[in-house]
Amino acid sequence: MISRSKTRTRRSPALSAKYLDRVEIRLLVQSKEQSDFDKAFREWSYAGNAFDLKESIAECELCGHSGLRFQYEIANSHTSSRLLVGSRCINRFRGIRVQDADGADLDEERATKRLASDRRRLIENHRHRRVISSLVQLASNEDEFDIDSFIKWLLAHQAFTPKQMTTLIWRFEKHGVAFDSADFKVTIRRNKHKQQLFDLPDWQLQKLWPCLSPSQQESYQRRRREVF
Ligand SMILES: [Zn+2]
Repeated sequence: MISRSKTRTRRSPALSAKYLDRVEIRLLVQSKEQSDFDKAFREWSYAGNAFDLKESIAECELCGHSGLRFQYEIANSHTSSRLLVGSRCINRFRGIRVQDADGADLDEERATKRLASDRRRLIENHRHRRVISSLVQLASNEDEFDIDSFIKWLLAHQAFTPKQMTTLIWRFEKHGVAFDSADFKVTIRRNKHKQQLFDLPDWQLQKLWPCLSPSQQESYQRRRREVF
């Protein structure tokens, strides 16, 4: 008899029986514990190995859900089996232990935070790679483009100044380099950079606008209202 009595989840207590059946079969096959669902889950832990496949192509090895872009590796402490599972499973089954960088088990609140921050890191890395790829493409189209200084700045600040970004957009468009405004971040922390943004003519501001975060857009509009 398989015990499910204590099976709890982080977010949604009401899971479909079909979903649980699928998870149960795949979990017990790979675990030392062969009947108690909860006990079997405790054999598994997530230590921070997460992967971004960039496209929604994978299948969760626990529930079989397809169309996954992010995978989290869970390992069994008794059988040395490993499973690549999706966001839904790793977040729902609190029985899976989530560990910190030193291998210590995290409490539920910290576990939820770690999972969210690992996901943010994957998205951020992907965004960063796309920015670099646009810069490299631009450099291959334009000899005068000083890619090293742009990359050096980007690594140090994680964002471009309004002036740099305006230049980049102009160059991308001139050379037909594909780029996604949402991948780029603009820094206006310093007054000098706030002023750069404020001094842009409307047509340049319009192009730069999608690179600004909602709070930067709001702060720009607030300042504009104050001045006029
Ligand atoms: Zn799953």
